[in-house]
Amino acid sequence: MTRDRSPEMDAFVAEAKAVRVEQAFERCGYSLSRLRRTGGEYVGPCPACGGKDRFSIAPAKGVFNCRGFGGGDAIALAQHLTGQDFLDACEILIGQERPDRADGDDRERRERLRAAEARIAEQRRVAAAADAKREAGENEYRAREMARCRETFADSFGLRDEQHDDARRYLSARGLDITAVENSYLRTHPRLGFFHKLERGPSRLIHTGPAMVAPFVRPEDGQWRMIGLHRTWIDLDAAPKFRPALRDPETGESLATKKMQGSKAGGLIPVIGRLGTSTRMVAGEGIETALGFAAFDGHRADTFYCAAGDLGNLCGKALVTSRIRHPTLRRTIKGGATRPLMVPGFEPDLDAICLPVPDHIVELVLLGDGDSEVVMTRAALRRGVARHARDGRTVLSMFAPAGSDWGEYKPSRELETA
Ligand SMILES: [Zn+2]
Repeated sequence: MTRDRSPEMDAFVAEAKAVRVEQAFERCGYSLSRLRRTGGEYVGPCPACGGKDRFSIAPAKGVFNCRGFGGGDAIALAQHLTGQDFLDACEILIGQERPDRADGDDRERRERLRAAEARIAEQRRVAAAADAKREAGENEYRAREMARCRETFADSFGLRDEQHDDARRYLSARGLDITAVENSYLRTHPRLGFFHKLERGPSRLIHTGPAMVAPFVRPEDGQWRMIGLHRTWIDLDAAPKFRPALRDPETGESLATKKMQGSKAGGLIPVIGRLGTSTRMVAGEGIETALGFAAFDGHRADTFYCAAGDLGNLCGKALVTSRIRHPTLRRTIKGGATRPLMVPGFEPDLDAICLPVPDHIVELVLLGDGDSEVVMTRAALRRGVARHARDGRTVLSMFAPAGSDWGEYKPSRELETA
């Protein structure tokens, strides 16, 4: 492409290069409105090769990227979208013929156009095949994970089992009142393997021991469907948390002893009560928080107590545009300098999936864990209040005292309400 070019040709290419990448998108016949704006970028399906969100345009950097093809500048974009070669792409961008085009080139030009169409068709075919393969792989992985969840669940015992009582003893050791918990909600697995993925290489079994297992469920056609399993490994000798101290065998890094298998998105862990017959719902991040609050709350008969697993699932994602500057935390950038850390803000992304709250719930209480980072938790709770608000429903948020102990907590309702 860079054979000795005439000054006229250099000027022609330079003019094409100067086209902004978002203009190039429109000059190829597509509207930016078909893409989603997130941050400073446009994201969406690739007009040339499909997908859901594989394609992005970053106007500030003057580049596009397509995970099915690659990325580059405006000319590369025009080549990808139209299948044309470099100089034809330049012609499309500036709407003029190249300077050296001789008369009578028309037939050759039509041939190149046909070749371009064939290239586009081939790109689409290859990308669609790759999509189908990836999707099949993901489905297979999910199916395997769910099979493991069901197997673990089947090998576990109800909370009041005489012999396998680790979950009951764990919760009691944490000072939690379990009298109101349904037998089947929180269970004991007597010997559950803890697998950890090493930095290089496969997952390795690094611990086997008793665990509390709790199904994550999602309402579907009036029924609960299990979508995942929450697992808390237990060590009754390890006060005050009563969980084993597990470490990465290579790095020595301490490992979380609460883990998810399968999915929690759009689901919840039932802790006390029945959702279908309750008019009030209380949801915390963790099982312990929900249980602690239930005792503080007096185990109200009209209330369903549950855990959402994490803040994201409790309160929903934030719109990217509503990010806020963390007042103290900073992130390190290249070269060692630091910048303020931007964290999810107050405005809910209503399209994102989170905790299911049925219409018949007239009061919802969202609990933040006292152990979680304060700024992010407060922002999430405020977002959750907005997210779950409805006509005729009161939504409150409360911050659990550190250690999830509600016993000494004086309720204050000065927090967000809707
Ligand atoms: Zn593409």
